[in-house]
Amino acid sequence: MRDHNCVFCRIVAGEIPCLKIHEDDHILSFLDIGPLAEGHTLVIPKDHVERLEEMAPEHVAAITAHLPRLARAVLEATRAPAYNLLQNNGAESGQVVPHVHFHIIPRFDADGLGYRWNAGKYEEGRAGEVLKNVLAALGA
Ligand code: AMP
Repeated sequence: MRDHNCVFCRIVAGEIPCLKIHEDDHILSFLDIGPLAEGHTLVIPKDHVERLEEMAPEHVAAITAHLPRLARAVLEATRAPAYNLLQNNGAESGQVVPHVHFHIIPRFDADGLGYRWNAGKYEEGRAGEVLKNVLAALGA
């Protein structure tokens, strides 16, 4: 299924060019047009779906199965010692293109790409409540 207004669906359809890395029946991988680092790579499902939690597990598996090989290739090609795997869901998370995608972002020492990781602390008893709510939502 495709969304005619979606830039990634248009790339899948060949209406917008991309620098293709890998393609099969289910996924497409290409260089990000606005790289955070050279070799910044995107991996997307061909079918239009906005967010990861909307996907069938087997479709997620079909994408993620490619990540180790693609990550190794990006590391080798860029000589990066490290990478971030990033997958945004929803505008508040930073998702700009509402079509599921995984970023593979090469990282180097002192590359200035850091992000704020403002680790918080639960108030007394709060973690237990949160856990209870998540388990209830899971039906566990
Ligand atoms: P996100 O913020 O997680 O939605 O990331 C969307 C990513 O898609 C950004 O890193 C953009 O640079 C990238 N992007 C948008 N349009 C294109 C395009 N036509 N070709 C390649 N990458 C794109």
